[in-house]
Amino acid sequence: MSNAWARGARSFRPGAYTGTVPQRSPDAMLAPTPTARLLAWLDALNAALAAGDAQAVAGKFQPDGFWRDFVALTWNLTTQQGRGPIAAMLQATLPQAGPKNFRVEGEASETADGTIEAFLRFETPAGLGWGHVRLRDGLAHTLLTTLDALAGHEEARGPTRPRGVEHGVHRGRKTWAELRAEQEATLGITEEPYVVIVGGGQGGIALGARLRRLGVKALILEKLPRPGDTWRRRYRSLVLHDPVWYDHMPYLPFPEHWPVFTPKDQIGDWLEAYVRLMEIPFWGDTEVLSARHDEATGEWTVKATRNGAPMTLRPKHLVLATGMSGMPNRPVFPGQEVFQGTQRHSSEHEGPGDRGPEG
Ligand SMILES: Cc1cc2nc3c(=O)[nH]c(=O)nc-3n(C[C@H](O)[C@H](O)[C@H](O)COP(=O)(O)OP(=O)(O)OC[C@H]3O[C@@H](n4cnc5c(N)ncnc54)[C@H](O)[C@@H]3O)c2cc1C
Repeated sequence: MSNAWARGARSFRPGAYTGTVPQRSPDAMLAPTPTARLLAWLDALNAALAAGDAQAVAGKFQPDGFWRDFVALTWNLTTQQGRGPIAAMLQATLPQAGPKNFRVEGEASETADGTIEAFLRFETPAGLGWGHVRLRDGLAHTLLTTLDALAGHEEARGPTRPRGVEHGVHRGRKTWAELRAEQEATLGITEEPYVVIVGGGQGGIALGARLRRLGVKALILEKLPRPGDTWRRRYRSLVLHDPVWYDHMPYLPFPEHWPVFTPKDQIGDWLEAYVRLMEIPFWGDTEVLSARHDEATGEWTVKATRNGAPMTLRPKHLVLATGMSGMPNRPVFPGQEVFQGTQRHSSEHEGPGDRGPEG
């Protein structure tokens, strides 16, 4: 009996439930639980991975199944559909990436259409992985693998968080506020950032938070004055289009009393507070004008203006987080030149009642 079936047997307790619980047929009661069925699939997956057999791993998927990988195997964001493309991805990556020890986090659940789904944990030589699987008819319909932490560079949190106190007498001891002020006075001024992030919208800010927790010296350059200004500048009646539980930033979830659809100025204030609480180095009023990479030095030369004054930074890495809708697309329509009404891009619309600059 494999581990999977043994675990399934332990979770089946005949006679444990009575009364108003809906009656299940004896066959259904004897059927292995969703977790047990998933564990059987994971046992087979782990065995195929351990053997380095890409075809056998691909055979654990439905013929049109998907494997979506975020960095864990491919160091890229990629989706493969079908056993052939999945096997090809594995042949290229298994020798170095070697994911192993896939296991269930918590319990698997089963939807009305018989899909079994669960979150997963696994390991690669590079770090710890986290993922999600959906099984249909005993084969993977979708598998997501993401790299959650780099081995040896795990974020200090929970039991490994810093102590925050230094007992004893230390000459020249600095407080948290003094250290923060020192970092703000040096990073980007007397000390080059290791990473420059262009754009302080929610993408740039989320990355800034992650890099800060990893101890990477990163600096965000944002052309607008304050974090959250991209949201504040949008039309008056805007609320987020997704419910609040889809919109969390890393580490700090929104409070539970927040409206389901968060108003745009509230999200702007949240981003500003988030930058402060997460101690993210952020320069507003800083517009990046150009960036050039020098292969010889392995450095970028980033030219920008800060509060109108020209400046140059030389980081090792450059991230463009300027958003995909930052540049208005202004199509030209026939008859536009004779149209008498207001014409403007949606980013300039202030909301209901706004009749444009002509009133
Ligand atoms: C009406 C509307 C409703 C939306 N609702 C939701 C929702 O409910 N949930 C959700 O998750 N998403 C929602 N989105 C999408 C969300 O706004 C974007 O996905 C998100 O803002 C993208 O974040 P980003 O950091 O990639 O880009 P942006 O937020 O666009 O940030 C890019 C930043 O780069 C800065 N920048 C650009 N060029 C430079 C430069 N040269 N130098 C310095 N800085 C520069 C810009 O000023 C800007 O602050 C909505 C979008 C709109 C328009």
